[in-house]
Order: sequence, then C-alpha cells, then structure tokens
Amino acid sequence: MKSAFEVFLKDITTDPKQYSFVLTDGFFAEKENSEIQGGNVEVLVVAQKKAEAFEFYFEIDGFVQVVCDRCLETMDLLVSASDSIIVKQGEQTDEDVVFISPIDETFDLEWVLYETVALQIPIQHFHKEGECDEEMMKKLNACSATKFTEEENKTTDPRWEKLKDILNNN
Ligand SMILES: [Zn+2]
Repeated sequence: MKSAFEVFLKDITTDPKQYSFVLTDGFFAEKENSEIQGGNVEVLVVAQKKAEAFEFYFEIDGFVQVVCDRCLETMDLLVSASDSIIVKQGEQTDEDVVFISPIDETFDLEWVLYETVALQIPIQHFHKEGECDEEMMKKLNACSATKFTEEENKTTDPRWEKLKDILNNN
C-alpha cells in the first residue's frame, strides 16, 4: 500500500520544497506495540537536494495521547521538536545517513515522523498534580494496600515463631 508520507525524489531539487502532514488518531492507532494511543500532530517538512544527498528538515508540533503512569487513564502530552535526516541512494557507508536503493523513486517519511514523535515521550509521564482520575486512584490505592498487608503477613520473623512454640508448650 502506498504511504501518504511518500515523497517523490525527483521533485526534490536545490530549491527547498515544503510538505505538510497531519498525524492523526488513525496514524498512531495502526502502529503496533506503540504506547501512543492517538493524537494530532502537525508536521512541516522541508526537503532539499544537496550534492548527491537529500536533506529532510522537519518540525513537529501537537499532542499525543498516552497512558498516565499514576492513574492509568489517558492523558494528552504536548510534543514539539525539530530534527533532520540525510538520505542518499546507494550502499550503506555512513551511519548518520539513511541509505536507500538507487532504483527507489520515493522516500517514505512515515517511520521517521513516527519515531520523532515517539522520542518526545518521557519515560515517566503523569497528569499534572490533582488532574489524575480520582476514581482510578482510589481503586489503585485500595489494590496496593491489600497487596501490602498480604506481604506483611507472609514475612513473619522466625524468632516470633519460636517464641510461639515455647508459649504453646507451656
Ligand atoms: Zn493520571
């Protein structure tokens, strides 16, 4: 299937060319194993040919929906970043350059854009203080309180066991 994020390399010249995209709920929903559940991110791409390479500069700006680490409800997270990549046709000779086949007529920006957005998500992310889902927090707290009591009961000090034995024998 042709990606909506493919650009024709022959369209890219030494004159900077602009593309704009919007990454929507559908874009994020179809990515497997992604922590991003949805969102709306505007993307501006400027492509330019430089010698034998194609340079793509891009800016992303918008929000994504992820699960809050504290209350496990969905939260909006603002994402804003800029980055660039260099694409060349030919054999892989440089780690900083994305190499594509000399017969490729297009370059697909889909994964580059997705990864740029995904990299903006901090490892831990929470709602602002006081904005977590109260019902969920109550349930979660009740849950961890039960767990704690169970753990406590399990770890009985062996010395107490001995003392109990002594008391029982008398
Ligand atoms: Zn929360």
